[in-house]
Amino acid sequence: MKRTVGDIGEFGMIQRIRDLLGTPSERVFVGIGDDAAVLEPSGKALVVTTDMLLEDVHFRLDWIGPADLGYKSIAVNVSDIAAMGGKPLAAFVSIALRPNTLVSFVDDLYEGAMEACSKFGLDIAGGDTSRGRKTVIGVTVVGEADKALVRKRSDAKPGDSIFVTGALGASAGGLRILEGDVPDYAVDEAKALIAAHRRPIPRIDAAVAAAGAGCRAIEDISDGLAAELAHIAEASQVGVRIRAESIPLAAGVREAAAFLGEDPVDFALHGGEDYELVLTAPAEAVSGILNAVEKTGVILTEIGEIISERSLLISEGGKESRLEAAGYSHF
Ligand code: ADP
Ligand code: MG
Repeated sequence: MKRTVGDIGEFGMIQRIRDLLGTPSERVFVGIGDDAAVLEPSGKALVVTTDMLLEDVHFRLDWIGPADLGYKSIAVNVSDIAAMGGKPLAAFVSIALRPNTLVSFVDDLYEGAMEACSKFGLDIAGGDTSRGRKTVIGVTVVGEADKALVRKRSDAKPGDSIFVTGALGASAGGLRILEGDVPDYAVDEAKALIAAHRRPIPRIDAAVAAAGAGCRAIEDISDGLAAELAHIAEASQVGVRIRAESIPLAAGVREAAAFLGEDPVDFALHGGEDYELVLTAPAEAVSGILNAVEKTGVILTEIGEIISERSLLISEGGKESRLEAAGYSHF
């Protein structure tokens, strides 16, 4: 018979997680098993972020398995640390589970989380465990940053060029395939799109490199490019003008959009969950930023500019229109 978390209980669960995670790195002076964790940061500024993933709000268990879910729950938080110019140190993983959840589900969840942690250089140093009616994973990540490299949404200035890392729309394309709106035979890159949705890659080194080379605002793209640009514009009290033709689309996004009869650019603007970076740069820093970011293996593409007029504009085929900024809102 397969064992459930109800069978082994909260303390059985925590012991199991602790065994699975093994010994953390030296930065964790006290890890799982005491009242609180004790970390030894290297003396820089602390960067702290938290993000919850709720079943049937952020994910459905028939679209993402436990290992990918564990991985993603770490990656999305690390992406927020990166967007501040920081590097991750430790994660705290709080989970609510139905009592009939299989123990193997939790094992797989932590396997995935550990894989992300070893890839992005952090430890799981604690968490909390509770019973719930649905699965909830809340992750807090503590990181550190050189104060000189911290980048805020409010740092953009008129005349800055706007850049994005990588290619956009992959996660939204993957989700539409998982939802069954697009059959996977209709898109050659179906597997890559689904992988982008399940295992996003936070741009830690690219953000630090861009900040070091003098970029201004940085934000990670969790709600869609349009929403992130609106945040930067609002916080910096500026506007943006971007070119639809310049937005780098991930391979397969055009095919998926064509199948649906939708505009592929909308996947980048409104899809969200790409976890790429959008950043702004003054003219004198552009070539240095391009060089520094390229060295991290990440492509930067210029998509437009920051303007002093407080409007959000997008041009397509020589025609300019207002950029709809409605991202996902929970309420
Ligand atoms: P307390 O009652 O003091 O809050 P807990 O029983 O909640 O302690 O947790 C005991 C230890 O196990 C703590 O170090 C906590 O961080 C860790 N822990 C609890 N649940 C989890 C989890 N889901 N993942 C990782 N660590 C956990
Ligand atoms: Mg507790």
